[in-house]
Amino acid sequence: MAVLMEAEKLRARGIDVVDFGPGEPDFATPDHIKKAAIRALDENRTKYTPTAGIMPLRQAVCDWHAKNLGSSYEPKECVVTAGGKIAIFNVILSLINAGDEVVIPAPYWVSYPDIVKFAGGKPVFVQTLDSDNFCLRAAAVEKALTPKTRIVIANSPNNPTGAVIPPEAFAKILGVCRKHGVWLLSDECYSHFTYGKAKPFSIASLPGAKETLIIAGSLSKTFAMTGWRVGYTLSPEALTGAMIKLQSQSVSNVTSITQHAALEALRGPMDSVGVMLAEYARRRSHILAGLRAIPRIECTEPEGAFYVFPKVKTKDGGIADSVAVTRELLEREYVAVVPGDAFGAPGHLRISYATSIERIDEGLRRLNHFFSAA
Ligand code: PLP
Repeated sequence: MAVLMEAEKLRARGIDVVDFGPGEPDFATPDHIKKAAIRALDENRTKYTPTAGIMPLRQAVCDWHAKNLGSSYEPKECVVTAGGKIAIFNVILSLINAGDEVVIPAPYWVSYPDIVKFAGGKPVFVQTLDSDNFCLRAAAVEKALTPKTRIVIANSPNNPTGAVIPPEAFAKILGVCRKHGVWLLSDECYSHFTYGKAKPFSIASLPGAKETLIIAGSLSKTFAMTGWRVGYTLSPEALTGAMIKLQSQSVSNVTSITQHAALEALRGPMDSVGVMLAEYARRRSHILAGLRAIPRIECTEPEGAFYVFPKVKTKDGGIADSVAVTRELLEREYVAVVPGDAFGAPGHLRISYATSIERIDEGLRRLNHFFSAA
């Protein structure tokens, strides 16, 4: 946040900052989705809705998930939430009591540990490694379990690393969770952002997976709808009921107009999503090649999301202080990145390619200038 505020100040002074910070698509929400919202307004769909969402939308979430990711949920197992963040918040608040442990793979999305702490729980981190493309492994998860563990979080494709857990490895993680009677919370926020050999995959597609599984999903990234605030959970009915109770005393319901837009997103054509994903794929190859040509930067190949997460080295080959590097990059080159420290991974930088190829090129030029300096 400090870096982004600093970048904002520079911009206000008219300085051309290359911003590799954003955690959101640079595309506009597709037109047919916007039009559905306008229609909903014209039709005065502006009243309270059921807490868990309008029934056609709960059905559409289940249908979309079944069609795209091979699951088989019913609307009574679905809650429409105000974004993927509230989906995760509802799960943690409903399941975690004081002292309960939640296993979180590191590097992690910044909100997981704070939500767990807010619920009175204890985050327990499992380190994933550059050398293993930051893949979460069942053996590492199992080592972190204690009698107090209630949830294991998996986030694939991952923010910040872009790592994708292959289906076989994911199945093993589910197996470990089952064996030990803990919930697996799969955050599928970036489900469709996969490249190369990786394909969109949900662990919910495995037969018999549903019993100990919770899916947290979001329309934010897939449909370029970050500001609309809509996501969902898919989970066994009893837990779904608990989350509806919680939501009924907090947000009440997701904005009615947003729900109608979401209905169109899930039921309508996916063509524009395909166009956006093809552009992300192009940028990913471009930035990866560019970064790998820069001295002192080592970059694993991310198979998903829209981030690269390179390791940065000092001039004598040691691990660089990524907070200091981030500051200097901003001050000297006007390039904004996020230090890995924010995600529990010092020595790394998170670089988002949710920006145009032209801006990526300008950023690469400046990064090269910075890291090539004597
Ligand atoms: N999960 C991950 C891994 C994320 O990176 C984000 C947002 O950046 C979210 C969930 C939540 O997204 P939203 O609340 O916008 O749907």
